[in-house]
Amino acid sequence: TPRRRSGMPDFSHLPPDAVIISSNENPLGPAASALAAVGQVGVSGGRYDRFGVAAATVKTISEQFGLKPGYVELFPGSGGPLDMALMSNISPSKGLVCADPSYEQGPRAAATCKAPLKMVPLTKTYAHDVKAMLAADPNAGAFYIVNPNNPTGTMTPKEDILWLIKNKPKGSVVIVDEAYFHFSNDESVIDQVVADQDVIVMRTFSKIYGMAGVRAGFAFGRPDLLAKFQTISPEISLRNVASVSLFAAAAAHASLLDPKLVPERKKINTDIRESTLEFLDKRGYKIVPGSQANMFMVDVNRPGREFMGNMIKEGVVIGRSWSAMPNYVRVTVGTKPEMEKFQTAFVKCMDMPPA
Ligand code: PLP
Repeated sequence: TPRRRSGMPDFSHLPPDAVIISSNENPLGPAASALAAVGQVGVSGGRYDRFGVAAATVKTISEQFGLKPGYVELFPGSGGPLDMALMSNISPSKGLVCADPSYEQGPRAAATCKAPLKMVPLTKTYAHDVKAMLAADPNAGAFYIVNPNNPTGTMTPKEDILWLIKNKPKGSVVIVDEAYFHFSNDESVIDQVVADQDVIVMRTFSKIYGMAGVRAGFAFGRPDLLAKFQTISPEISLRNVASVSLFAAAAAHASLLDPKLVPERKKINTDIRESTLEFLDKRGYKIVPGSQANMFMVDVNRPGREFMGNMIKEGVVIGRSWSAMPNYVRVTVGTKPEMEKFQTAFVKCMDMPPA
């Protein structure tokens, strides 16, 4: 797929009925409550956030998790503050430890900062191998955990993350990326932020809340850890970097206050994911078990890139491969009709001989 300058894939050449299940987006889009809130603040868009919608959003999330003031910041998405969390804790003398396969933003930040990088294979159950991660670099500046993991959708038990927090070197941080957490059944580690541990937790509105293009996300952390974000570019004001659009803040706030949104969407995602996996499993295709997210991986028995190309010809854009699992592709859970189209295309492409 061609890419735009921002690095985002360019789908403008695809037919309008193409199924795009490649970027772990939510096909449902923003909730009706979120769109209504945007409609209400719309006329105020000529002003700065004079009614403090962004501040109200931060206050609401703080109350929901029992956080003191100053322990969470709202950003335009979670990728920006994730870079800041990573880069403010690593350097050429302080390494980064990530899982493999996992979200590539960790390794990219290490490359930018010229920080030593250790990539530690997932366990047999596709969890982060926290003991091996600590052993890989006992002097690391940061340990990056994605839970549920991207691309496998699999969980790392909370007790393993707590073990790492307890045993990591002094002065380092554990960064837990909970971008997909709402889809899962586990317990968050945001309570560790409440307990003043060396933990930064990331959350986003891009996934279950269906707001990838709207851009809103949170960084949770002790005030000193959040203040450290500023150190990666002291000349740039964090206040401006963290400046969220009024529309995004209104949509985010309404989403947080909508009690049915997360449980309803979680159920929709779980049902469609499980029926898709059952379809694949029944036909003997090999999947990575245990996903609790809006994605899964499946073995396509040939380089993932080749398979992706064949699927695009069938009008279905699926996700990429990771070098640790080159014959697997990542697939996002779409709507029911989208996954039906995926299944038909998948069987057809699997029946083609590998190139
Ligand atoms: N973290 C993980 C694990 C992701 O998969 C993504 C996006 O796909 C992000 C962070 C960044 O998302 P955003 O900047 O849209 O919040």
